[in-house]
Amino acid sequence: MSEDPLSLAARAKKMGAAEADGIVRCDACPVLCRIRPGRAGACARYANEQGRLVRTDPVVLMQRTIDADGKLVAFAGSAWDGAPLDPARTFITGIGAGTTYPDYKPAPFIVAAEHAGVDTVTVVTEGIFSYCGVKLKIDTDRHLGPETAAVRVDGEEVGHVTTAEYGSQMLSIGGVRHLTGGSKREGNVTCETLLQLCSGEPVAMSIDGGRNLVVAAGQAPIVDGKPEVRMRVGCGSATVGIFARQWLGHVDEVIVVDDHITGVLTEHQSGRVLDMPPAGIRVRGRKSTPGRYFKVAEPGLGWGGTSITEPLSIIANIDAKLAWPGLRLLITSTTGEDALYCVLNANLQPVPASMPAEVAAVIQRIGENCEPALCSVLFMAGAGGSLRAGVTENPILLTRSVGRGETTVTMGGAPVAVWPGGGITIMVDVTRMPKAAFGSVPTPAIVAPIEFTLPRALYQRLGGHTADIVSIDEVIRAVSQEARVDHWSDDNPWPFASDARRNPGS
Ligand code: SF4
Repeated sequence: MSEDPLSLAARAKKMGAAEADGIVRCDACPVLCRIRPGRAGACARYANEQGRLVRTDPVVLMQRTIDADGKLVAFAGSAWDGAPLDPARTFITGIGAGTTYPDYKPAPFIVAAEHAGVDTVTVVTEGIFSYCGVKLKIDTDRHLGPETAAVRVDGEEVGHVTTAEYGSQMLSIGGVRHLTGGSKREGNVTCETLLQLCSGEPVAMSIDGGRNLVVAAGQAPIVDGKPEVRMRVGCGSATVGIFARQWLGHVDEVIVVDDHITGVLTEHQSGRVLDMPPAGIRVRGRKSTPGRYFKVAEPGLGWGGTSITEPLSIIANIDAKLAWPGLRLLITSTTGEDALYCVLNANLQPVPASMPAEVAAVIQRIGENCEPALCSVLFMAGAGGSLRAGVTENPILLTRSVGRGETTVTMGGAPVAVWPGGGITIMVDVTRMPKAAFGSVPTPAIVAPIEFTLPRALYQRLGGHTADIVSIDEVIRAVSQEARVDHWSDDNPWPFASDARRNPGS
């Protein structure tokens, strides 16, 4: 009986070449492993099985649990039971599909299916990404290290601290310079770090002049051994504005300590609008605008991401002409985790006192308004030569079509954000992708699934490999026994829905 041309073994065989002594040469990446019988190649993704090159991981099919009418159907919440897959609810991902290296081969699967009366094509492949990295968002106020400082794993430089965002510290990990431009060990450690981050595994890293971290996608960051709990409610100025009315009548002054913008209520516009009298308490740092101060201390692990651990040290002076004995002062961080209530004595010195219930309630509300601190991992990559050539003979037409939003790009079925401008530069939230979606090869580079879905007529106009189109029924028949079948995540837009066009992840 002849071998099904779509089967795992047959697809892999197309990539290899038999040599003497049963050795098979794999050409699925530039390493060109010569694999002995019974052994695997350097990446463990391909093996020599009785003289045949085989892909060691199963292709991943995803089965939607909602039908075209929006009704919930079979096996929701349980493992696939081996029943025949419904083509209308099945998506073929690039996971385990194989690659198009070295450039001129059509993608492993070019799948035709009809959805809502439209003939569609999904081009399915694994991309080998040398130009790739991770943008890591760490929800914390704490100072992790100076901007541009090196981020290290096992002593190797794998990235750097980049511009902080609102309530989050940002790291840029990987990229072609670390993968290819340093020592061999730097490239390998960088590649392994990317693979672990994209696979949701925890990674221990250190920042030059900064902190030790443990980060994992979707998990709380651990800073110097301490798990972070809360993401701040806002900057110091925003916190003053949000809660000003709730403090009115219960305190005479509030200082919200923040490494970037410390807020002082009675000077702030919100205090003025509420007719709060000036309290005369001047904080350290550089005044930006009324009630907003920059650089009140050095950055650190203390209150509000500053080095402050003694909150009263933020006070530069108290104006005796404005302050008064009995003045009620609250100092808090932007998460409410640190808070001190004081009353000025006869000498106008702040004396810590028991916090009134009304003030404690607002501190508690600040905490309620803080979201859980998480690490977010966005894989970012550029679709290069072999990948695009596997879709069409004229890759610029694909690039333009993706840019116009006519062709939907997904990674393991997850939506991607496509950067404007030239090329196909994409970002994807790795937690929206199926498990074990990523791999690596020792060039070093990351292997990731990618799918392009578009109307069949458009695919023809783009110069697609139409002679290699197969129906989804044929693919299911050929691979379902050797495939892994996952449930489609209903949080992800269905790529065949008309509103999935125009890059839903962006
Ligand atoms: S590293 Fe993996 S993909 Fe590359 S040639 Fe070797 S077995 Fe094939």
